[in-house]
Amino acid sequence: MQTDKFISRHNGPRDHEIDEMLKVVGVSSLDELIDQTVPTNIRLKKPLNLPEPMSEYEFLNHIRKVSSKNKFYKSFIGMGYYGTATPSVILRNILENPSWYTSYTPYQAEISQGRLEALLNFQTMVIELTGLPIANASLLDEATAAAEAMIMMFNQRSRTAVKEGHNVLFVDQDIFPQTLDVIKTRSAPLGIEVVTGCYSEYEFKGKEFGVIVQYPSGKGNIRDYSAFAAKAHEAGALVTAVADILSLALITPPGEWGADIAAGSTQRFGIPMGFGGPHAAYFACKDEYKRNMPGRIIGVSVDRHGNKALRMALQTREQHIKRERATSNICTAQALLATMAGMYAVYHGPKGIKRIASYVHSIAVLVAEELDKLGYKQNVKNIFDTLEVELPSGVTVEDIRKNALTHQINLNYKSNGTIGISFDETTSINDINNLLSVFAESTGKQFNKITEIKEVNSIPEGLQRKSPFLTDKVFNSFHSETEMMRYIKKLERRDIALNHSMISLGSCTMKLNPATTMFPLSWPEWNGLHPFVPSDQAEGYLQVIREMEQYLAEITGLHSVTLQPNSGAAGEYTGLMVIRQYHISRGEGHRNVVLIPSSAHGTNPASSAMAGMKVVVVKCDDKGNIDVDDLKAKAEQHRENLSAFMVTYPSTHGVFESKIKEMIDIVHQNGGLVYMDGANMNAQVGLTSPGEIGADVCHLNLHKTFAIPHGGGGPGVGPIAVAEHLTPFLPSHPVVKTGGDKAISAVAAAPYGSASIVVISYAYILMLGAEGLTQATKMAILNANYLAARLKDHYKILYTGETGRVAHEMILDCHHFKLTYGVDTSDVGRRMMDYGYHAPTVSFPVHESLMVEPTESESKQELDRFVEMMIAIKQELEDIKNGKADKADNLIANAPHTATEAAADEWNHPYTRQQAAFPLPWVAQNKFWPFVSKIDAGYGDRNLVCTCAPIEEYM
Ligand SMILES: *Cc1c(COP(=O)(O)O)cnc(C)c1O
Repeated sequence: MQTDKFISRHNGPRDHEIDEMLKVVGVSSLDELIDQTVPTNIRLKKPLNLPEPMSEYEFLNHIRKVSSKNKFYKSFIGMGYYGTATPSVILRNILENPSWYTSYTPYQAEISQGRLEALLNFQTMVIELTGLPIANASLLDEATAAAEAMIMMFNQRSRTAVKEGHNVLFVDQDIFPQTLDVIKTRSAPLGIEVVTGCYSEYEFKGKEFGVIVQYPSGKGNIRDYSAFAAKAHEAGALVTAVADILSLALITPPGEWGADIAAGSTQRFGIPMGFGGPHAAYFACKDEYKRNMPGRIIGVSVDRHGNKALRMALQTREQHIKRERATSNICTAQALLATMAGMYAVYHGPKGIKRIASYVHSIAVLVAEELDKLGYKQNVKNIFDTLEVELPSGVTVEDIRKNALTHQINLNYKSNGTIGISFDETTSINDINNLLSVFAESTGKQFNKITEIKEVNSIPEGLQRKSPFLTDKVFNSFHSETEMMRYIKKLERRDIALNHSMISLGSCTMKLNPATTMFPLSWPEWNGLHPFVPSDQAEGYLQVIREMEQYLAEITGLHSVTLQPNSGAAGEYTGLMVIRQYHISRGEGHRNVVLIPSSAHGTNPASSAMAGMKVVVVKCDDKGNIDVDDLKAKAEQHRENLSAFMVTYPSTHGVFESKIKEMIDIVHQNGGLVYMDGANMNAQVGLTSPGEIGADVCHLNLHKTFAIPHGGGGPGVGPIAVAEHLTPFLPSHPVVKTGGDKAISAVAAAPYGSASIVVISYAYILMLGAEGLTQATKMAILNANYLAARLKDHYKILYTGETGRVAHEMILDCHHFKLTYGVDTSDVGRRMMDYGYHAPTVSFPVHESLMVEPTESESKQELDRFVEMMIAIKQELEDIKNGKADKADNLIANAPHTATEAAADEWNHPYTRQQAAFPLPWVAQNKFWPFVSKIDAGYGDRNLVCTCAPIEEYM
């Protein structure tokens, strides 16, 4: 007898159903199907070497033990990461709620109105706090957001500035080291020269395109940058403020003193530190730059009936259209964390946020006074929440460190011998007294115990914020827990997530996000740690990280792994930078050509451009496979400058191309390295691997293949695995040592990226083990081939391998729909909403197509319902063609149908309400009502509005 195995919960089909499915597919065993699908010459020779699988119960016991190795000390470290009290109503109803954490990026806007509103709240909050008119719906972290600001300022240069080679970025020296490091990483391949110094002494030389200052500064002082901003503008440079979001409740917002861009982290708005992430970064700018803004903007538009409706504006899919000319490679961002931060503002409202800001400021002022009495001098004037203290003679840093550790306190010990102390909303009177006793003991003096925190404001009049913020109704309505809970529920009901039905998005791998894997996220031993704590306080984390690096190296067949990148696209960038550094180290820094197949995901060319590479497109044949002759010709043509070949495998068309090894040899023979986009790893795990196939680097999307939930558009983890010769180049970090001995500089703010959610993938791997992971891959392939077999008489399946099999996903050809039926592919996607389904991937990688990826987690019943829907929709299409349905006024063109519409007194369509809303018998069992009908995207783009205000009337 065995205890309950997790694999039997993770995979959808039951054993007896597998036999039925194999029959439909036309094979006698699962292994026969796999043999027909995965080319023999790339199959793994032996099983993965991973620990024996644990049951869910065993894993929870295990992770509890590992948790106890993390020491949860009081952090006063600051440096961009602060204690915060996540409101329980948000923790329970959003972070721990699959309706929120399992949803996808809101491309299908009509069934995403809830999270779109939540993200619109986030944008509005950012706009109001920064005093700038446009904001996006989150970036990856503060450091990468600052780097995005640099790139945006660079791209904003006038023609003359470009001609004259204006390439200098001035960065004030009082900026967090991780931010500066990431800025430097990003600047190098673009030919940007980063100059650091003191802003007040800086003389502009005429070559500057931009300046970046931190506000309040890294030391902690609030400065008046207005004169400096004016000077920068006069010199033709744009101004970015990296600003602490909480401080903006009390100090003049950047938009009011002349900044063109503001960027930073919203971590302290209720998002636990999590040993570095995930957290949402914000990005706001002046109106004239909106079309060059990185990331996604949520905008307001109207639906078919003229009701207000939200959708992603402008940049949606922009990488897929603009490719290497895209403004950034941001795809997965930090949607779930942005949702939470926005909700934190909704829950606290303007008064609450101001009270929290005032509380931390008052503590800082109070502690500064007490420390002064003990002989510790304040180095900074005009503080917000951070002190920099000098030690009196006779007191050493080591004295303080020793005392602090005894009191379980972490401080920021700076290289100049001073000590940084930051306060946050979780700092209690008790914490303050503990802190003071550390400093008092070191001098042998007594201190007066603090008994109350009086509100003070020591910020000079001229630096104080005068303008109101968070004035919108949404920030002033839900301040009781009941109201807040219901507001969250109200939004939740407008969205389809994985707890409603299958989300068959090709390339996105929307598999089960197992509940057990999510538990540790809510425990303080995991979410309470600052990323820069001494390593002996993070032994649990470091164990998970080290083990994960090993497991992922084993799974990819490569040598070493970094977990630093915060998304797949960030992984692509990291991998390309590592390749670039490898060539440079061999005296071949001129190698800058990257070959990318025309079918590649848009982030591939966008990341290449960011890494300073020149993209050369490789053709695909009419079967969707890479044209090997064209690859060979281009590799040879560029052999002197060939840097890399980026390839997705199995291909973005969902096929295991049999000539993959040949392609890799061609690239290697011409001096290039091979970068494998691991987004499709779900079809490889345990059967083959990038290393086995011959790749030098690959990234993994832990938020696809390894069960981290998609969160409505993030968080993500995009580790890269590299072969031995690239190991020395893995990224370093300026605060916590990571990477190899010839490391590139940091690619993210935190040393191990979004460390807290790595625990999810760790759980997933440990509960499945080698056999379970392989079984999951096989089941993903079976589920896809079962769908293909059942759909093939109704839809044209565009690409299959030489044996007629698909891998883990397939493309349904819809290019003739417009001509034959008068509807678009996206209309078909919207009709699925009436049946309670989220559309598959629309028009990627092939125009006018649907890419379907069921994943291993979907049961046969669910696949069968999906098939029934697809067949029924096909009939609805045929009815348009054969005249049974109206050419214009039909079920598909008018989809989706809302409850208001279906229940209205008037009904003027030639089809029935039943056909519109309950087209198949089972739909009524689990009816989802889209909150709005078809959205007019063009209207919203022409009249770009990206704050809450205009939707008030429909709330
Ligand atoms: C999802 C995906 C990416 C981008 O990954 P993100 O984590 O969203 O940045 C890149 N390539 C392919 C093929 C993908 O499917």
